[in-house]
Amino acid sequence: MFQSFDKHLTTAFFAPLARRRADHGGDLAIPILMYHSVSNEPEIEAHPYFWLNTTTGRFDAQMRFLKDNDYKVISLAHAVELLRDTGNKRNKHAAHAVITFDDGFRDFYLSAFPILRKHGFTATVFLPTDYITDHTRKMDGKEHLSWDEVAELYEQGISFGSHTTNHFQLKNLNRDDMNFEIRHSRQIIESKIGKPVDSFSYPFAFPEENEELTSYLTDTLTACGYRYGVSTRIGRASAQDPIFFLKRLPVNSRDDLAFFRAKLEGGYDWLHWFQLKSKILRAKLQHGKTRN
Ligand SMILES: [Zn+2]
Repeated sequence: MFQSFDKHLTTAFFAPLARRRADHGGDLAIPILMYHSVSNEPEIEAHPYFWLNTTTGRFDAQMRFLKDNDYKVISLAHAVELLRDTGNKRNKHAAHAVITFDDGFRDFYLSAFPILRKHGFTATVFLPTDYITDHTRKMDGKEHLSWDEVAELYEQGISFGSHTTNHFQLKNLNRDDMNFEIRHSRQIIESKIGKPVDSFSYPFAFPEENEELTSYLTDTLTACGYRYGVSTRIGRASAQDPIFFLKRLPVNSRDDLAFFRAKLEGGYDWLHWFQLKSKILRAKLQHGKTRN
């Protein structure tokens, strides 16, 4: 029951509420979908929220849903433009969606891209660059893209952003190491694709409760030449989001079309409040522990 309480609450209660609100106008909100792996491999043992895989069948169905329901799949750059244009109001006749992939798994090339191409959709893939360079390194037992595949995908209209160099939880690093993770990964991708890299995706839970760190990261990302980014903060992206840490909607095999639709329409946005409160609580407990 607990395993799926967020799913039930979202589809049965919050999605209809969000739909009614959308019918009455409201601010622009863009769903930025967060995928990891498109594969039929067994899932990691964790709450379904953390699952990494979306089966090829389910991914295909989700993409078809976007197509059939007239979603305009736009690049992350375009979404940022729309969010920055404060005159923009939500227009229910032109629903937008952005597709992103974290971790740079090889199944993006093998399984996800052929489906995206079939529908004429673009996506942004965030690369932990050292895993792309060193193929002996694996994350959750999965293979990563090669630089040749990255170059080929880039030619075909896929965007690439940084997901740091080593995929560490940055908040646990000292400032020098943090800078290296952010700066080096961008330089490497640029040297491989020959174009500036604008976007960044923070690995793991984003420490949004830590304002000092958030502002330090913002300054560092700006100084390194990034222009915008995404995080694991839950919900649809809005103009109120910090530009480097836009909210996203996690998607995996658990997302049947009812749940997928509910997320796209704002039915999952309520979870961010719980996410933030639990981070603040955890930070307080941690602080108490280190003081005692
Ligand atoms: Zn990641």
